Amino acid sequence: MEYQQLMQRVAVLGAAGKMGSGIAALLSQELVRLKLQYRLEHLRLTLIDTNEAAFPGLLAYLADQARRAAEKQIVTLRGFYSDRADLVDNGEIIEQYIADLLSLVRVDTDLRVVAPATMVFEAIVENLEVKLKVFKQLAESCAKETYFFTNTSSIPIGLISQRTDLVGRVIGYHFYNPPIVQKLLELIVPETTRKELVGLAVELAAHLRKTVVRSADVAGFIGNGHFTRDGLYGLNLAERLVADRGLTLPEAVVAVNRVTQDFLLRPMGIFQLLDYVGIEVYQSILAIIAEHGEQPHLRSPLCDRMLAAGIRGGQHQDGSQKDGFLGYEKGRPARVYDLESGTYRTIDEALLGKVDGLLGPLPSSALTWKALSRDGHAGERLAAYFGKLEALDTLGASLARDYLKNSKVIAETLVQLGVTPTVDDVSAVLKLGFFHLYGVADFA
Ligand code: NAD
Repeated sequence: MEYQQLMQRVAVLGAAGKMGSGIAALLSQELVRLKLQYRLEHLRLTLIDTNEAAFPGLLAYLADQARRAAEKQIVTLRGFYSDRADLVDNGEIIEQYIADLLSLVRVDTDLRVVAPATMVFEAIVENLEVKLKVFKQLAESCAKETYFFTNTSSIPIGLISQRTDLVGRVIGYHFYNPPIVQKLLELIVPETTRKELVGLAVELAAHLRKTVVRSADVAGFIGNGHFTRDGLYGLNLAERLVADRGLTLPEAVVAVNRVTQDFLLRPMGIFQLLDYVGIEVYQSILAIIAEHGEQPHLRSPLCDRMLAAGIRGGQHQDGSQKDGFLGYEKGRPARVYDLESGTYRTIDEALLGKVDGLLGPLPSSALTWKALSRDGHAGERLAAYFGKLEALDTLGASLARDYLKNSKVIAETLVQLGVTPTVDDVSAVLKLGFFHLYGVADFA
């Protein structure tokens, strides 16, 4: 079938969730483009979620994203609406665009309405049994031509397709959070996937202006394959600093966060990233990789203890950060959790002084990820920076160098496991999806 035919009836499952709502917004904009540019009729975007209460917010989000998209492409929209003499100023065109987009959308809690879909995007909870149940129901109710795109972060696609009788018709379409902003799309293609589906997935990604990096169908894929192991290294390092250097756990967490953010010039430290993803989500991804990748050593007792204490991280509905290893003020770490007392401790001068005293100074305090990410000559500055890091004889520099080396070892492990043929793909995923400024092998 042609792209335009396949885009006739699209469904998103888990559409009210973090990822599902972003995927729904992207698809709504692509469908309304097809409608306006090619005058296609009968296009339909069906949004399914069990959380009915979230539908008004979801529709408001789609309208808001549509408005932003419309404001950026007003000239194109004027062309689409050139036969509408009644639409004169920009505001009228934008309102019409939003109305046209929303007219394609239906929300529902009942999975049965997905039966006529030509393409289904699944973004429900990361739980194999729940996903299998939903896919089995759709395998029975949908046509044999329907294609399925799953946003799973870690579950092998082949496993889902085999267990649901959908072999050849499921593809991994792994958006990054938030889907509307993030450029990276990891594409996971089991060997049995129909060629037509692969072509369609690539064509759609181009229309959504995403950059595709292909990953083999190995649990965790490239992005989470690296992130989970990188996180585990940070978690274990914090525990090592407690055992070997006499730090309290809160001090060690702040120290490792500082090494991974400020010494390594990453956008956030590893503990902030763990909180961003959510400690529970992280543990479940790790468990899936451990089980399906046959790597039982991938476990974090420290995360188990945090979860047992009821500390989960993750984000609120409005996208703001929940407290996890770190406590947040206006999105910035301001406190650190103390498992012993069960309370958060302020990250004050005394705590920072102790951590900095142990780690030593940064190679260059003037360089930050933020400044470098806007710098046209970042490459040269990074090389000079890591040259200085190499020469520094401090604990902070030595931990940072070891962290870099471990990141490269992780990338090599992913190559050995057959997740990707080259470490360059790992670098591409880290740069695009995690906003690293350099590749895994550049300075390790
Ligand atoms: P989420 O909890 O924000 O959203 C899940 C949504 O699915 C919720 O709205 C929930 O009500 C709905 N839901 C649950 N069971 C359902 C069912 N049976 N039928 C219909 N709706 C159902 O989760 P999320 O973070 O958006 O993650 C969704 C998927 O995307 C997971 O597979 C996750 O691993 C993956 N993913 C998440 C991220 C991320 O950073 N959050 C990034 C990439 C991929």
